[in-house]
Amino acid sequence: MANVLILILKSDATEPQIQHVIERVESLGFGAHLSRGTFRTIVGLIGDEQRLQSEPLSAIPGVAEVVPVMPPYKLASLDAHPQPSVVDVGGVPVGGGQLAMIAGPCAVEEPDRMLRIAKAVKAAGANIFRGGAYKPRTSPYSFQGLGEEGLKILRDVGDACGMPIVTEVTDPRNVETVAKYADLLQIGARNMQNFVLLTEAGQANKPVLLKRGMSATIVDWLMSAEYVLAQGNPNVILCERGIKSFDPSTRNLFDVAAVPVVKGLSHLPVIVDPSHATGKPALIPPCALAGVAAGADGVHIEVHDEPEVAKSDGPQALLPDQYAEVAQQIRQLAALLGKSIAPLPASKASG
Ligand code: PEP
Ligand code: MN
Repeated sequence: MANVLILILKSDATEPQIQHVIERVESLGFGAHLSRGTFRTIVGLIGDEQRLQSEPLSAIPGVAEVVPVMPPYKLASLDAHPQPSVVDVGGVPVGGGQLAMIAGPCAVEEPDRMLRIAKAVKAAGANIFRGGAYKPRTSPYSFQGLGEEGLKILRDVGDACGMPIVTEVTDPRNVETVAKYADLLQIGARNMQNFVLLTEAGQANKPVLLKRGMSATIVDWLMSAEYVLAQGNPNVILCERGIKSFDPSTRNLFDVAAVPVVKGLSHLPVIVDPSHATGKPALIPPCALAGVAAGADGVHIEVHDEPEVAKSDGPQALLPDQYAEVAQQIRQLAALLGKSIAPLPASKASG
């Protein structure tokens, strides 16, 4: 067995303290490997790391620092799975050089409009249609979404156009209902650390699109993915959607570096959402391209045919023509990078 954790002792740790550390480690069922340096003494713990998570090792007198050898997001890490994962979303392969092109309005609205938008984004190259039926709004007085009626509309439109659909689930009590209709369950930024919701979604037998919380570190985000993976659901796609910043120039701060950072830590596909990251139509195309150039496995963009009457997030919606233009640029950039927009499944391509 390998070293799973290293204890760095304080420079003034006494001999009795060092002996106590060793006894404590051995009493927990771990081997202790003592190494005395000129300035610091360290103790390597050998054994099953799973059993270590809850031990308050830094509270042992004489211990200065506890350094895990493996990341705490074991299943999400590259150690667990050195090759990039490919997640199947209703027949559309996401990751490993195939890009997700998720597009659609913020909220599910009336069926005719949804069908119109879906046809337009599909013609432009989108391969997954989006729309929120349960909207997590900052104000309780804002439109909250059409609920299950919205799910039905989205499913019907997806089927009519031959596109898989993604929609947000905001409440653990709704996971089963949303999973009945959706091909991909979105967990929104505000719920990234709703651990009950993550656990339920992990059991739902549908892939999960996990948005980054607006104040979440990358490790927080990967730990949330770990909640889903730990339920036996390996199909998680991460989505960078901007984080809080001091600058009101953009809705959020688009953390494009998060993409290569995650790529260096995890095998999970990671996509970008320049709509919520910037909140401004003019900034969406350049940031979408920056995300793909940085290695993203897809792009999530809100599109509406009449933003001024949109029920939610109208001011940041691209018009279908604007979407078609950026989609074409993404296609060209992807080709340059040896990637391509993932194809719709053959059985669904005709609609
Ligand atoms: C959305 O996708 O419409 C949404 C609410 O996203 P986020 O959770 O990133 O704010
Ligand atoms: Mn939105």
